[in-house]
Amino acid sequence: MKTSKIPHRFYLTEEQMPTQWYNLRADMKEQPDPMLNPATGKPAQVEDLYPVFCKKLAEQEMDASSRYVDIPEEVQEMYKIYRPSPLVRAYQLEKALETPAKIYYKFEGNNTSGSHKLNSAIAQAYYAKEEGLKGLTTETGAGQWGTALSEACAYFDIPLTVYMVKTSYEQKPFRKTIMETFDASVIPSPSMTTNAGKAILQTNPDTGGSLGCAISEAVEKAVTTEGYRYVLGSVLNLVLLHQSIIGLETKKAMEMLGEYPDVVIGCAGGGSNLGGLIAPFMQDKLIGKANPEIIAIEPASCPSFTRGKYAYDFCDTGKITPMAKMYTLGCSFIPSANHAGGLRYHGMSPILSKLYHDGYMMAKSVEQTRVFEAAGLFAKYETILPAPESAHAIRGAIDEALRCKETGEEKTILFGLTGTGYFDMTAYASYRDGTMTDSIPTDDDLQKGFMALPKI
Ligand SMILES: *Cc1c(COP(=O)(O)O)cnc(C)c1O
Repeated sequence: MKTSKIPHRFYLTEEQMPTQWYNLRADMKEQPDPMLNPATGKPAQVEDLYPVFCKKLAEQEMDASSRYVDIPEEVQEMYKIYRPSPLVRAYQLEKALETPAKIYYKFEGNNTSGSHKLNSAIAQAYYAKEEGLKGLTTETGAGQWGTALSEACAYFDIPLTVYMVKTSYEQKPFRKTIMETFDASVIPSPSMTTNAGKAILQTNPDTGGSLGCAISEAVEKAVTTEGYRYVLGSVLNLVLLHQSIIGLETKKAMEMLGEYPDVVIGCAGGGSNLGGLIAPFMQDKLIGKANPEIIAIEPASCPSFTRGKYAYDFCDTGKITPMAKMYTLGCSFIPSANHAGGLRYHGMSPILSKLYHDGYMMAKSVEQTRVFEAAGLFAKYETILPAPESAHAIRGAIDEALRCKETGEEKTILFGLTGTGYFDMTAYASYRDGTMTDSIPTDDDLQKGFMALPKI
């Protein structure tokens, strides 16, 4: 038992905030396999990315050797509007669970996007501005990324077009209004504004869309509009780099409290919050300094890590992006409608895929009714209404804490609370009225996705 009581909420001061991001690849003994250019089947060169991505971001994507990267001052300035984010000790949840474990969470929902996504949106909008681009395009699933990028583009004064997955566009009309408040234009995807969208509508006119499909549209729009580039809010190495701010702040705060996690848990959609949270802890693991357990939690309806294949695949349904080696369900896989839009991506960060493949981390899948049960419990004791995505990590942390209750282990559990769920009331309502179901793909469903994997 510690003599000094740890505060409920702990904030670094502005002066203590990190001024550099950390690039996990610099400490990986084996690198993720290179991205492939779909036209040649050869490893993509940085120039291959220039037509799609802003130059500086393309360079960050390819940079496996710079261990630390300076955060530009303009980016640090905007970070200070909503950061540092708090590290919270979940005393009430611990008590409710009667667990001997200590539970900490890093709360990233304290900005209008309601998620960690603003951390990378700011950096990406800043580099686009610096390059003198005329505009950006992107996709959004649940709406958090689109909102985050709208905020960042408004701040740096860059026009933005957002392709929003149609189901989500219909379920969350206020998400659109927020993005428009930040001057973005929002188009439901699939749409008739691109060839990729038209092709998908032709074969599947009633589809509610998917992230992979919205990505195809946003990329096509960017490469066919002069002075425009495309930006992505997850999966890519550069996004994990920017999100390392989460882990760096967390590690520093825990050090100041005399703590170190035994277990680090995060939800995984494309892997950006998890990759960011675990970055400095994974560094300790890679260099043999410490050995925390690291656990990714994903939805049972979209189980990329736990049931996917480690293979080269396209990052989008339209097959126009470079191919990445990652855990994937196949780019043609469209998960059944579930309520964690931010976790419905067919693939996974190539960095995390490699670390998982090499045994540095574990993954578990959870059904959405158990996720919403955890969300309700958490809201009740910690007073924050979590995003359904974040509630996957909560479920993972609660399960771990309950295991500690059985074994009597006093583990220190850290999880990432990525955001708030104010726009997910349809989901909360369907849990409350009992109409929520757990749709888990059969092996046959998955096989269809695997069959369509590119032959490399
Ligand atoms: C987008 C999102 C996620 C999942 O994305 P990752 O890239 O896997 O982090 C998780 N939580 C929230 C709140 C999100 O908006």
